[in-house]
Amino acid sequence: MKRYRYLGMLLAIAGPVSWAGSANISFHRLSGPLYVATDAEYFPTNWVVYVGAKDVVIGGATWTPTMARALAARIRRVTPLPITAVIDISPDPEWSGGNAYWKQVGAKIIAVGITNELLKNTWQERNQRARTNHPGYPILPLVMPTEVVADQFSLERGAIRGFYLGPTHTPGDIFVYFPQEQVLDAGSILKPHLGNLADADLRAYPKTLRKLQQMHLKIRTVIAGHWSAVHGPDLIQRYGRMLKEHAQDDHE
Ligand SMILES: [Zn+2]
Repeated sequence: MKRYRYLGMLLAIAGPVSWAGSANISFHRLSGPLYVATDAEYFPTNWVVYVGAKDVVIGGATWTPTMARALAARIRRVTPLPITAVIDISPDPEWSGGNAYWKQVGAKIIAVGITNELLKNTWQERNQRARTNHPGYPILPLVMPTEVVADQFSLERGAIRGFYLGPTHTPGDIFVYFPQEQVLDAGSILKPHLGNLADADLRAYPKTLRKLQQMHLKIRTVIAGHWSAVHGPDLIQRYGRMLKEHAQDDHE
């Protein structure tokens, strides 16, 4: 019996999946059930990992299946609980490129309708853009979310709340909020620098940020999707100001 089990393990390791390469990921505890994983391979990107009482949920699928696998291995070092859901918080590759891995291990891949639509219609273009901007980034076939949810949704009995408020960095990026920890995962929407605005709706962006402010969420920490991860709630205003200055520059 034992021998067969080993054989099975060997087959599982040597199987048809070629995502065994290592990926450069760091992984730190933020507070309570929240961890932040950071990529140092393609571009500094931060993903929030929620380790619940029974399972694990991840905000963003990571860049590639290889990186997703590396993140799963890092999570294994802090908990044996299953990773049951991954949220594609944006159609951009750093948030959905790892879908194939998560699908293969049986995790739900969750997205709101607009993110799902954009993946379907623009993935190839986004994949190509990532290959131009980040040398070595692979060609990845589209792997769609497995579950399309309403624009406002909650997971883990309300411990995780996702919401789409309007166009920002792309027409289909969402926020993920952890009310118990008062942490807002802003993905590519908020960050310490303006970043790439190629796909941004510059008219709608500030309006969407105002909608966020009007929700009056209790926010202690904002996790930015790129560069340094941990910020105070003032990042919302700061990013709004950067957008405004950028708009003024354009008109001079
Ligand atoms: Zn981004």
